[in-house]
Amino acid sequence: MKSIMFIAPPAAGKGTQAEMIANKYHIPHISTGDILREIAREDTEIGNYIYETMASGDLVKDEITYKLIENRLSLDDCKNGFIIDGFPRNYEQAVEYNKILERVNLKLGYVFVLDIDKKTLEKRITGRRVCEGCNAVYNINEESTTPHIESICDICGGKLYQRKDDNLESFRTRYQNYLEKTATVLKYYEHQNVTYHIDGNKSVEEVATQIDDIINKKGN
Ligand code: AMP
Repeated sequence: MKSIMFIAPPAAGKGTQAEMIANKYHIPHISTGDILREIAREDTEIGNYIYETMASGDLVKDEITYKLIENRLSLDDCKNGFIIDGFPRNYEQAVEYNKILERVNLKLGYVFVLDIDKKTLEKRITGRRVCEGCNAVYNINEESTTPHIESICDICGGKLYQRKDDNLESFRTRYQNYLEKTATVLKYYEHQNVTYHIDGNKSVEEVATQIDDIINKKGN
């Protein structure tokens, strides 16, 4: 069973890598950011709360994410593996994640840590575009991930948009959150010897190769 987690700062390319692995191994890509963005589209109390929180770059309340994750991991398509992206983001979530995994009878597996420079992230954040239809991610500041037709998804023909939180101001809050809160998650997993560090400054293909090599070496 391939259970894979990514720990990475915003715009490090974890979504892109997660999508590639999901397609390769036919396992679901579970992104808390994507699930939350869906809910944020609804004109409900919780939808509006999530919309505002995400736009500011802050984290939404832990309890909301726990329910989403447990419900999603309970589905049958996770039995042969899954990729969790964007969770856990703080120490409390990491501790709760263990309990959730136990309840749904799944394993922690690989914890990939994408190491990447802040300067590279700032360049990527302003170029990121996401497909409205299938959530595919592009970057117009990088040749290899620019869509063939401007603003149109290569995969499904959907319209590409720029996320509301993909601006430098919101990025700085999210990056600070990452440094302060996710650093404790990192330590938590480092202690358990389950992390694999990847050089995220490399191209999409080179990062994918580093990840593949680790999975192939371990063989499960
Ligand atoms: P992402 O798509 O992973 O960059 O997440 C975008 C935004 O969604 C974050 O800045 C948070 O506002 C929210 N979010 C995603 N995952 C979580 C989480 N695990 N806990 C709290 N908020 C989250």
